[in-house]
Amino acid sequence: MSSQPKLTILFTRQEIDVAVGKLASEISADYHGKHPLLIGVLKGSFMFMADLIRRLDFPLEVDFIRVSSYGRARQSSGKIKVVQALRSGVRGRDVLVIDDIVDTGLTTAFLLDYLGKKRPASLKVCALTDKPSRRRVPVTIDYLGFTVPDKFIVGYGLDWDEKFRNLPDICFMEGED
Ligand code: 5GP
Ligand code: MG
Repeated sequence: MSSQPKLTILFTRQEIDVAVGKLASEISADYHGKHPLLIGVLKGSFMFMADLIRRLDFPLEVDFIRVSSYGRARQSSGKIKVVQALRSGVRGRDVLVIDDIVDTGLTTAFLLDYLGKKRPASLKVCALTDKPSRRRVPVTIDYLGFTVPDKFIVGYGLDWDEKFRNLPDICFMEGED
């Protein structure tokens, strides 16, 4: 692994802005008047969530959850656990999970099971990006920003070994897959 990987822009900040606006319109149409609980999956979703919710002009609540990730390893162990729990109650709430990327689908499937057991009134997923070529378990993404190729992406909250989260565009790492 080189110390300074080459980055190529996949989606510009302007394209992201358009996509987030479109998602906000869809979510507004479905959740207006419902007082939903939006659960951001840390850390990768923080920037997306911040941009998304400032475009939602109805009452909502925000909470965060953090699940164990596989760091720099490319293969998930498949064993996922909650490492930072929610503070909010989920029972009876309209819950929308906000995530950065659905890759193998293991994290999303885990969260849907974990949160579903807490008996929300409804439970849906909003993902900034989807990498369907890597899917190991089927998951439904209710609101999707972009479909991405089988490349490792960084920027706009997504990291490589904690780096590049601050890039305003979504980039892919050359030579990575
Ligand atoms: P899963 O494989 O469980 O669907 O994805 C779990 C997590 O792996 C994602 O939420 C994200 O944090 C990380 N991940 C998967 N693909 C990528 C990628 O291309 N770039 C980055 N930065 N993280 C990824
Ligand atoms: Mg994530």
